[in-house]
Amino acid sequence: MAFDSVIIGGGPAAVSAALTLRNRNKTVAIVTGGVDDIPLSRSHKITNYPGMPDISGRDMLEAMERQAAEAGAEIIRGRATSVLNMGASFGVAVGNDFSEGKTVILCTGVRPAKLFPGEKELLGKGVSYCVTCDGMLYRGRDVCLVGFTSDTEEEAGLLREMGCNVRLFTEKGAGYAIEGEKSVTGLKVGEETFPCDAVFILRSSAAPDTLLEGLEMDGAYIKVGTDLATSVPGVFAAGDCVGAPYQVAKAVGDGCVAAFSASKYLENSK
Ligand SMILES: Cc1cc2nc3c(=O)[nH]c(=O)nc-3n(C[C@H](O)[C@H](O)[C@H](O)COP(=O)(O)OP(=O)(O)OC[C@H]3O[C@@H](n4cnc5c(N)ncnc54)[C@H](O)[C@@H]3O)c2cc1C
Repeated sequence: MAFDSVIIGGGPAAVSAALTLRNRNKTVAIVTGGVDDIPLSRSHKITNYPGMPDISGRDMLEAMERQAAEAGAEIIRGRATSVLNMGASFGVAVGNDFSEGKTVILCTGVRPAKLFPGEKELLGKGVSYCVTCDGMLYRGRDVCLVGFTSDTEEEAGLLREMGCNVRLFTEKGAGYAIEGEKSVTGLKVGEETFPCDAVFILRSSAAPDTLLEGLEMDGAYIKVGTDLATSVPGVFAAGDCVGAPYQVAKAVGDGCVAAFSASKYLENSK
């Protein structure tokens, strides 16, 4: 069964959208890596959100996720690796699983600063964001895993279980570049190149335009109208991913607006 909406990202914008949709009796799933993957969890004190004085980021995010789950939103743990436009609905891939949504709301936070040289060109030709989907293709071969997420060690273990020879990199500012013409031949880290057949990259935030074909960007932000509809009908976006100011209050407001727009879209498509 398709959810009325699959929401990607578990931050304030996502939770706000989910609560508003649940109030309107819509079925909702939130795809999220969990609180540890949300940058706000590192804040010791938030002082400018009404009704929650001096709360830590972690406490706020845990309370939000609990509230969404109690309101009936299904929490899907993991990272969405692609969104497939199937016409009347969308397929959202999370690891080996696939969730269907009649609408999608992107609440993916600020886009990663920039992709590694060679990453976009070699995506699908040895560059992958999904160990579960692509790891088996490299059984018995050398692979590099560059990971900045809370499940990086676990994913490296999974690749080893699959029979890959894994070299793991977790340092953020190391200067990575992916080498190869038709397919990946190596990972350059600083001045040294490590020959390999695949590079798996795990970031808590993926660039939204690598998730969904045809999604128009405005620089680093997803291009939206005032109703927070994107260039792809049925797909909406909210929070930091559509632009500054980067604030919880603004993200929550956006989530609410996107949910109203998604709801209207669902009613009009009946
Ligand atoms: C340390 C720190 C302190 C801050 N302090 C304050 C403050 O005091 N007051 C204030 O108003 N704001 C503060 N902010 C800003 C605030 O955190 C953001 O503006 C707000 O969290 C944005 O909400 P969001 O839902 O748009 O995005 P986020 O909270 O960034 O959530 C986006 C989530 O989507 C996830 N995601 C991305 N891609 C995928 C994918 N493909 N699959 C699954 N999940 C995905 C990301 O991992 C992330 O968890 C602070 C930020 C930081 C980092």
